[in-house]
Amino acid sequence: MVEVIFLGTSEATPSAERNQLAMLLKYKNDNILIDCGECIQRQFKIAKLNPLKITRILITHWHGDHVLGLPGLLQTIALNNYSKTLKIYGPKGTKQFVKLLLKTFIFQEKIKVEINEITKDGVIIDSKDFYVKAFKMKHTAPCLAYRFVEKDMRKIDIAFIKKAGLKPGPLLGKLQQGKAITFQGKKIKAREATKIKKGKKVTFIMDTLFNKNCFKAAKDSDLLVSEAVFLESEHIDKARERKHLTAKQAATIAKKSKTKKLILTHISQRYSKNPKVILNEAKKTFKVSELAEDFMRIIL
Ligand SMILES: [Zn+2]
Ligand SMILES: [Zn+2]
Repeated sequence: MVEVIFLGTSEATPSAERNQLAMLLKYKNDNILIDCGECIQRQFKIAKLNPLKITRILITHWHGDHVLGLPGLLQTIALNNYSKTLKIYGPKGTKQFVKLLLKTFIFQEKIKVEINEITKDGVIIDSKDFYVKAFKMKHTAPCLAYRFVEKDMRKIDIAFIKKAGLKPGPLLGKLQQGKAITFQGKKIKAREATKIKKGKKVTFIMDTLFNKNCFKAAKDSDLLVSEAVFLESEHIDKARERKHLTAKQAATIAKKSKTKKLILTHISQRYSKNPKVILNEAKKTFKVSELAEDFMRIIL
């Protein structure tokens, strides 16, 4: 099960309804925070989540609305005997910026941090059950999109096993590893006795100009979380100038990449009274679109 929790959904400044940007992806023992806007700690409290369970932080870029929560969060982690090594990933500049933060704020306790600075597209985390790929975006600061991919799993076909008379044990283990077995003198191939369960894919595309890498990052996603700061119908020029996506562009990425569901976030103050206009524009291109709200949870 992959769960995504929205802990902040606003652009630039927090509003009464929306905190600055942050999302938490929960998968097995990993709690991956994607961006870390201001007031993140209160958002954790309200959502009844424990920040000490964070295992990794993925930073899309170093604009304030995506990282202003970092010093406070790091201090809390340091104060609470966090025994793990906190793994931080981000674009060019991340090493210098994290080191500066750790130097600028006088944390009373030490915290073990591993900083991974990503300068090219590719796999940045390769775990037993999942991997994460980063893709360079085009923004006014070095920026990355992230693609989380749960690895495919081979599951035992219970009906087949029952019929064949196989019992739990090492033979089933071999089948699950994709190996053929011999049972009562008969050869059984893994593909006869097992089924492949496709892993889930979740993509996060934050601040960027519409570009080819968006499609690569989002390919076949079960869930695409994308920024949508402007309406194409009103501000396509501003979107190009400030290097952001419009709602229509986010929907086009979802559609062409064969994404199953799109969630629009990074909602501008401009539309705070009526954010539905963002959703309506996206829906004209891609029906399965939804507007992010703080504390919204999506389970895949
Ligand atoms: Zn930005
Ligand atoms: Zn932003």
